[in-house]
Formats: sequence, structure tokens, C-alpha cells
Amino acid sequence: MMLLKKLGSRVLDLIYPPVCVLCGEYSAGEHLCPRCAAGLDSLRSDGSQEAEICRLNPGLELLVTPFLYTGAMRSLLLRLKTTPDHRAVDFLADELAQSLADSGIPEVTVTCMPMSKEKLRRRGYNHAELLAKAVAVRLGCGFDGKLLEHHGGLTDQHSLSREKREEHARASLRPGRSDPKGKTVLLVDDICTTGNSFAAAVSVLREQGALRVITAAAAITPED
Ligand SMILES: [Zn+2]
Repeated sequence: MMLLKKLGSRVLDLIYPPVCVLCGEYSAGEHLCPRCAAGLDSLRSDGSQEAEICRLNPGLELLVTPFLYTGAMRSLLLRLKTTPDHRAVDFLADELAQSLADSGIPEVTVTCMPMSKEKLRRRGYNHAELLAKAVAVRLGCGFDGKLLEHHGGLTDQHSLSREKREEHARASLRPGRSDPKGKTVLLVDDICTTGNSFAAAVSVLREQGALRVITAAAAITPED
């Protein structure tokens, strides 16, 4: 099985050559080319906005995000919505798992923000799920994608006021078939902007008896 996976990954490398996941330049098989690796620190989040989002959303206990949603990181995450690039997922999962390990998180059950069935049908995959599964492997923890379910319409959240966004985020989520009772859950998404969606998901999981919910996103939208 592992061999098949490895072979599959080699075949993918032929289709998608091993270039830098950020700039697309040749990178000799590394996730990043030397230039992007040297500039990676400029994309790193310093944690201050995560703290502010937790302050504004009292339901959020701990939010971990390695990167700012800017420049090459923004392009990478936009690309992940149209292409399930396994090397981009690997790179982001490595960084997320490292940031989580640095935060000293306990044994967790990993899950992801669910995607609407309509969107999933159109896109064919949930990029947050790909990321969450890869993070679970790195942390040596289990993944359970059935803790939360998405239901309801596709309202564009950007057109809504803050209050309406919160309401909408909460209304579009419901408990899934798995039971989070007594578990410490790690909830993974690609991007965190206001923390509304995370806060809504955390409240559903807590209502179902989750002991703690830790939230993690690959990137956080910088303040204007
Ligand atoms: Zn590069």
C-alpha cells in the first residue's frame, strides 16, 4: 500500500514537476526554492492577530496559524481551492504541525471545517480536509471527518454584516454522525479571517460534549 502510494506520488511528480510550491520555480524536489525558503519568515504570523481573534470570539480558546494570508501564501491557498496539489498540502501540513507542536497541544482528534455538499460536488474535494488529514498524520493523531456537518445554502459571507455572518456561520453547521463527547478536538481550516466560522463550529462541538476545541488554520488574514 505504501509502495503504491509512493509510486502514485512519483507519477504525480511527473505530471506536476517538483517546483517550488510558492513561486513555481524549479526547486530540485524541495517544497521551496532557496529564494522562497529565505523569504519565508516575512510570511510568518507573529501570533498577535490570533490572540486578538480569540479575544473577539470568546468561544475560541487557542488559535494556531503559521502564516499570514498575503503575497505568495495567498496565491498558494487560492490555488489549493482549484487544484488538490499534494505537495502544497504537505508543505502547509508540515508547517501547521510544527506550529501546533510548538504550542504544546495535547493528544487530539483532528477534524476539518465541513464544506457544503453543493460546493463539494462542484470542487470534488474539501481542501481543509486534505490539510487536516495530513496534519493528523504528522501529529500521530486520529482524523474524524464526521464530527461536523454543513447544511444550508451558499450565501456569500462577504456580503453580510459581522452579526449576520456569525448567525449564518452558526446556522450552516450541525453535529455530524460522530460523537465528540469527552474529546479534545483539533479543528483545521485553510484561512481564518474573523474567526466567526471557527467560533460557530466550536460552539457546536462544545454543545455535543467536546472537552476542548483547539483551532488551526494555514493562514490568517492580516488586519487592514
Ligand atoms: Zn520559490
